[in-house]
Amino acid sequence: MFVGVIFCVILVLLYFKFKNYVPILMYHRIANVPGDRNSLPEEKFEEQLKFLAENNYTTITPDMLYEHYTKHKPLPKKSVMLTFDDGYHDNYTKALPLLQKYNMKAVVFPIYNWIGKPNKWENFGKKETTTMTQEELHSWLKAGMDIQPHTLNHPFLTECKDEELEKEILNSKQGFEKLLDKPMNYLCYPYGFFDKRVIEVVKKADYKMAFAIFDNVSLWHINLFALPRIPIPSHQKMWEFKLKVSSINVIFVAMRKWERDFKRFKRKIFK
Ligand SMILES: [Zn+2]
Repeated sequence: MFVGVIFCVILVLLYFKFKNYVPILMYHRIANVPGDRNSLPEEKFEEQLKFLAENNYTTITPDMLYEHYTKHKPLPKKSVMLTFDDGYHDNYTKALPLLQKYNMKAVVFPIYNWIGKPNKWENFGKKETTTMTQEELHSWLKAGMDIQPHTLNHPFLTECKDEELEKEILNSKQGFEKLLDKPMNYLCYPYGFFDKRVIEVVKKADYKMAFAIFDNVSLWHINLFALPRIPIPSHQKMWEFKLKVSSINVIFVAMRKWERDFKRFKRKIFK
């Protein structure tokens, strides 16, 4: 009985601790590519947007999230952020019309040196496709969506030498600002990888926040330079999607994080 009460109290405390995390969803391609977990079929994406619209969710922008976390500016009760990594062409042709249909906003993170090109940086067996062109990026902005940098070349930032790291982070910010004539304040880490050294350079380059995935993120305190995101894979079930945008969304980040930490621990022990 006593243990049960303690368990319930812990659950309630955890709920209040984490209920203010705004779910930040991570998408890549909107396409039907069998075997690619980063490509979500168009019909599934529409089903998800329809659910968000019918259940009064508001898709917020990075600016709104920043104002909320730094100045306590209130957000709509059911807020969610939609992010697209790498700036694939199908984000423009498939995702944008659906986002407009359901009156939703999203932010795309293109790679500066890969704008309007084939996806050759993914030379690890990914299906060939292309990325959004400069004109399409401008139309994406005109449609009320946001664009923020995803570095120059999409490297593993933690493996870059100091000089290269500064270029990847600072030059992509300056390049996009010039190209799109708007401030670039929020970086997205390629592969979600970062460390203390990377964060120092991001701060020095005057970014206000940075988006990660689950690796290396802290869940107890919101770190503006290590914001966790929840991946939406190609096989995403609707019941799970509903939980991913609910007030217990952070559990999905925690599960992936613990799984990764456990695998690392196992490798250390058995190597
Ligand atoms: Zn990426």
